Amino acid sequence: MLLLLTAMADVIEVNKQYLTELDAEIGDADHGINMARGFSAVKDKIPTYADLSIGEILLDVGKTMIRVVAGSSGPLYGSLFKAAGKVIGDSETITYDQFTESLEKGIEKIQLLGQAVENEKTMLDAMLPSLRALKSKTDPNEGLTFAVEEAMKGVEHTKDIIATKGRASYVGERSIGHQDPGATSYLLLLTAVKEAI
Ligand code: ADP
Ligand code: MG
Repeated sequence: MLLLLTAMADVIEVNKQYLTELDAEIGDADHGINMARGFSAVKDKIPTYADLSIGEILLDVGKTMIRVVAGSSGPLYGSLFKAAGKVIGDSETITYDQFTESLEKGIEKIQLLGQAVENEKTMLDAMLPSLRALKSKTDPNEGLTFAVEEAMKGVEHTKDIIATKGRASYVGERSIGHQDPGATSYLLLLTAVKEAI
């Protein structure tokens, strides 16, 4: 778990500027900064996680993201991690089914919080297709490979649609042609997870 968190923090750090540039096109140029602030706070907490269960760690990751991130991505990603922590609970390992279920519950929380559906040019456009991909497979490697492919297609698709939720909705039609920063950060995180396991 700690290796996964480190891998996620690292991919966000490396892509901080890229994510911020994407947000500069249709938002307020802070998505990379927000995500990097969240994950660097998580990375700092890793030494305190040594004796915690996976569920407790995920809960703390979620709370940390919510506490330190100023933008809307903080509570959105934060609630995903918290919901995932609840699914994992006292479990000592994460099975493929638990991984998929924890993402499903997390994404449901994001939808509850942000009131968005697919095709509104948000992180959900990467999350929901990749979740369906995970659910369609039983082998973890096959599932994650397919999920990353679907997330990638989802990110591409965000270029073709108008933002109707979040800050990017303020630019309306002008959001066409630009890729959603939140969908992109999710693709990066999922790819890091796939590569780390
Ligand atoms: P802010 O928009 O507050 O500046 P960020 O720039 O960190 O926060 O995050 C922007 C990303 O958040 C968007 O690219 C989008 O993917 C995601 N987002 C915004 N609003 C919603 C929502 N209602 N539901 C799901 N995702 C959202
Ligand atoms: Mg922003």
